[in-house]
Parts: sequence; C-alpha cells; structure tokens
Amino acid sequence: MGKIILTGDRPTGKLHIGHYVGSLRRRVELQNSGEYEKIFIMIADAQALTDNADNPEKVRQNVIEVALDYLACGLDPAKSTLLIQSQIPQLCELSFYYMNLVTVSRLQRNPTVKAEIQMRNFEASIPVGFFCYPISQAADITAFKATTVPVGEDQMPMLEQTKEIVHKFNSVYGETLVDPKILLPEEEACLRLPGTDGKAKMSKSLGNCIYLSEEPDEIKKKVMSMYTDPDHIRVQDPGKIEGNTVFTYLDAFCRPEHFERYLPDYANLEELKAHYQRGGLGDVKVKRFLNEVLQETLEPIRTRRKEFQKDIPYVYEVLKKGSEAAREVAEQTLQEVRNAMKINYFDDAELIREQSEKYQG
Ligand code: ATP
Ligand code: MG
Repeated sequence: MGKIILTGDRPTGKLHIGHYVGSLRRRVELQNSGEYEKIFIMIADAQALTDNADNPEKVRQNVIEVALDYLACGLDPAKSTLLIQSQIPQLCELSFYYMNLVTVSRLQRNPTVKAEIQMRNFEASIPVGFFCYPISQAADITAFKATTVPVGEDQMPMLEQTKEIVHKFNSVYGETLVDPKILLPEEEACLRLPGTDGKAKMSKSLGNCIYLSEEPDEIKKKVMSMYTDPDHIRVQDPGKIEGNTVFTYLDAFCRPEHFERYLPDYANLEELKAHYQRGGLGDVKVKRFLNEVLQETLEPIRTRRKEFQKDIPYVYEVLKKGSEAAREVAEQTLQEVRNAMKINYFDDAELIREQSEKYQG
C-alpha cells in the first residue's frame, strides 16, 4: 500500500511562521514530491471547539483564514485533499470506540495536554472533550489510514497515544488499523519555534506570533521589538545565541544566499553567530537582517493569499469537495472497524444463523 499523509491545524487564528517551519513548508514539499498516494490536510474545527466552546464564532471565522493560508503556501487541491473535521461524522464514532481503549490516568500523563491545561487555566474545570482530544486525534489519523504525520514536536505525545490505540485495537479486534509514523522537522529550530517574546512556543493562543499574512511594516515592527539576549546591552558586549529568539529564527529561515543579498560582510550564519558571541555586533544589525529574510520569505505567500481572497466561494467549494472525498474514505475505515468489533449485526449472516440455531435446537 502507498504512503498516506494526514496532518492539520486548529482554526483558532491565522497561521504563523511557527506553523510554516514546523509543518506547512514540509507538507508542500511532500505534496510536490509525488511520493504520497494521498494527502489529507484537515482543519480541526471540532478539536478547536473543545477549548473554545464559548466562542464558536472564533472557530467559524478562522476556518477560511486557515484555508487561505494553506492555498497561499502552495497546498494544491488537485494534489491534496483539504477537509473540515466536523464534516466527517465518522470521526466521532471512531473516537467513541477508541475511548474504551485508553485510561484516564494515561490521558493525564500526556505532557502536551498538561501544558495546555495550565496555559488555559483549566486546572479545576477541564472540559471532557478537551481532555479527550488526543483520542479524537487518533481517530483523525487512523480514519485516513495515515502512514505519515508531518507535525511539530508538540504533537509527539499525540502520535504516541495514537500508536498505543492502534496496537491495542489490533491486538483485541485483529489487524485493522494502520500504525502511523511522525515526521518531525529536520532543523532543531523548527521543532518548536519560540514566540517573538522568547516564550517556548509561538502559538496563536499566546499572541506572540508573526502571521504568514502579515503586512511588511508589521513584520518589521515585530522583528525590531523581538526578544534577544537581555544581558547584551552595549554593542561591544559578548552576546548569547542560546535562547536568543532572533538567532533561532535565522536558524529556521536563513540560507547562504540571504547573506549574499543582504549581509555580504558575512559568508554564513556561523560567522554571524561567532561575531555576536565575541562582542561588537549589535542586535539592530542582526534584526535588520532577519527582517530582510522574513520579508523575502513571506512576500510570495502574502501575494498568493490576496489572489485567493478575491474568490472566497471557490475556497469554500474546495473545502466542501475535500470533505466529501474524505467522508468516503473515513466511512470505509469505520466499516472495517465495525466489522472487526463485530458490531455489524445486520450484515452478519453467520450471527443470525447462530442465534436462530440456538433457539430452534
Ligand atoms: P493553538 O494555540 O490553538 O493550539 P497552535 O499555534 O498551537 O494553536 P495548532 O493548530 O495547534 O497551532 O498546530 C498545528 C501544527 O503546527 C502542529 O503540527 C504543530 O505541531 C505545529 N506548530 C504549532 N506551533 C508551532 C511552533 N511554534 N513551532 C513549530 N511547529 C508548530
Ligand atoms: Mg496547538
């Protein structure tokens, strides 16, 4: 069987450069590699509702924003199926059965969910749906028989949970579900891009993002006020690279040709870092360079997005078609799951005969 991709994003805001380096850039490369039989890209609105139950309008509004960001980055509906999670009810049914295969204490140990609970101040009042979202993610991945899941590092515990569910299901009910592999970004800096404030993760929910659709002056403003090394006060002071967000972003985005174009005094990032660590290189110069690099990277994305913004009904049509196609695939898997679990009473002639014989002696 060929390789199949499933991945996606929560429609809780526009997509940002963390999504880009963590998953989006890779997806487009994989899509264009021709190595994958099918690619499913999911807008996870149902998952977004698990912690935004009071704010459904936010989720509703952001579905189209995420879709526009997808198209702007080069996801192509002719090659990838773009779908909306809530339009695939089969996913709910799969989740319901998988819930029996996971314990409460196992869910409580999930480090990403733990961190998110803290971030959202849920501690004493965690919505059940939110608590269970790793199970629903297992449904998303297995419904499409995904072999490959390209995501950022924060998704590792979700993949582990999915694999456990797959193993448990297959051992109880027989070989049915496909065991997926996570595909993490190769660059260390891209695993979990920090926020512009230096916080551990750039996240829509934390407001520390540079969005893919950001206008040039806004990008510049955000870059120039980014977190660096707080002890690097005068230009001549030696500076730290570790935890210095500006350098982390350069790790994620800059290539040698950027030096030729915008900072020819240095051959590469190593030289720039060495100078900063020695002292004598000011933050402003490094930030100006990062601004050039980001401007160059984001300009074509922003331009393409504006083209797609002119025809919003087309974008909804893409999502509708994709969701329809996805529903068929998920339905097929659901039937296989029902058969394996033997909850296919009316299709099982054997069962009906057995029960008849029981009563007819
Ligand atoms: P929310 O705050 O609503 O959870 P988010 O910004 O964390 O939003 P998600 O939709 O949860 O975004 O994540 C979508 C994908 O982007 C996942 O694969 C995730 O691993 C990846 N991702 C999100 N933030 C980053 C980041 N800062 N660095 C690298 N990858 C990221
Ligand atoms: Mg998230």
